[in-house]
Amino acid sequence: MIPVADAIQIVLAQTANLPVESIALTEAQGRILAEDVVADSDLPPFDRAQMDGYAVRAADVAVAPARLRIVGESAAGAGWHHEMKTGEAVRIMTGAPVPVGADAVQQVELTREVDSGSQVEILEPVEAGRSIVKQAAEIKAGETVLHAGEDINAAMIATLASFGYAQLKVGRRPRVAVMATGSELVDVDKKPGADQIRDSNNYTIAAYATLAGAIVERWPLAGDDTEELKKQIKQAAETSDVLITSGGVSMGVYDFMKPALKELGAEIFFERVALRPGKPTVFARLGNTLVFGLPGNPVSVAVTFNLFARAALRKMQGAKQPGLIAETAVLARAVKGSVDRESYLPAILRTDEQGTLLAEPLKWGGSSDFVAFARATALMSIAVGVGVLEAGSIVKIVRLPTSD
Ligand code: AMP
Ligand code: MG
Repeated sequence: MIPVADAIQIVLAQTANLPVESIALTEAQGRILAEDVVADSDLPPFDRAQMDGYAVRAADVAVAPARLRIVGESAAGAGWHHEMKTGEAVRIMTGAPVPVGADAVQQVELTREVDSGSQVEILEPVEAGRSIVKQAAEIKAGETVLHAGEDINAAMIATLASFGYAQLKVGRRPRVAVMATGSELVDVDKKPGADQIRDSNNYTIAAYATLAGAIVERWPLAGDDTEELKKQIKQAAETSDVLITSGGVSMGVYDFMKPALKELGAEIFFERVALRPGKPTVFARLGNTLVFGLPGNPVSVAVTFNLFARAALRKMQGAKQPGLIAETAVLARAVKGSVDRESYLPAILRTDEQGTLLAEPLKWGGSSDFVAFARATALMSIAVGVGVLEAGSIVKIVRLPTSD
């Protein structure tokens, strides 16, 4: 058995980046940047008015009210490109360039047009610099504003658009083959017969793999038969970057996943992790395809996918931060650890009246209790050898991925 952290390191070390591809900005959300994003212009690109009002010289209105001659108008997209002299004012709109000679904008509410619009009375003084954002105050041309390896989210779209990234480079999405194994499995649209259950793991893995940026292909259910498994594994590996199986990796008489992989000549990197749930997780490579042999239990699948396979899928796309990010919360109810394994137990996160983040362990019946798991929003990590972690303790958590 190897520690969870070691297993994650092995996964990352064995995972190579996929080629970069160019995509349209409209397709960028959820992808991982494969180039640094560089400003092609200053921001703002000119001295910009932050208010509707009048561009003035602060010295002209030091004693208010002060009358100035209106000499022009600067609107967004249509500036007034002359030099504004002392005693003059330019009517200006938010987002418009401030004329040369002006050093402040007085907001329209503190002004009054007189003489049928030929003059303006500035009702209060305004200090130099007021309501003007100087050219390049935010960003200078040539500055790197986003970095390769970052996740592209909605908040970044304005930056990409503003600097002209109509097309941008991202890591190619990994192709993932998903294959459930087990002679008891029937597909979701079938009524299970005696001794049968419906497959859920293919759907769970497909859902989480999509959240990790992958393109998923679901393979037919495979029975517990080494020859059948070998045939299907070989085919799936030929057409995918990553193969993710579930089931058949425990110590049972019909657990044929490892023999099948070994007979096909796969290189096995690990096959037992000090993890609860998820101990029999297998990580291997067959040809150029990474193989994750996840356990069969639906909750183990969710845990092991997100700890190991997700990291690989994100690393392939060039993510700087491929793994789940650890945070802390206050444990709402005591939980038991394990003597020889790190636990990743499902929990519901909530915030109490003081604003403290609490992790509430699920009342669950073990790794097969996927109905309880349906409410989980995080996993709590309990270190190896911790007997009981009391309510009120600080606990390490990782959030389960969601689409928001
Ligand atoms: P195994 O790892 O193959 O021994 O499976 C462990 C448990 O998970 C057994 O109770 C299986 O019936 C169940 N299981 C295995 N594969 C799936 C699946 N695809 N969907 C739902 N349950 C499964
Ligand atoms: Mg099985």
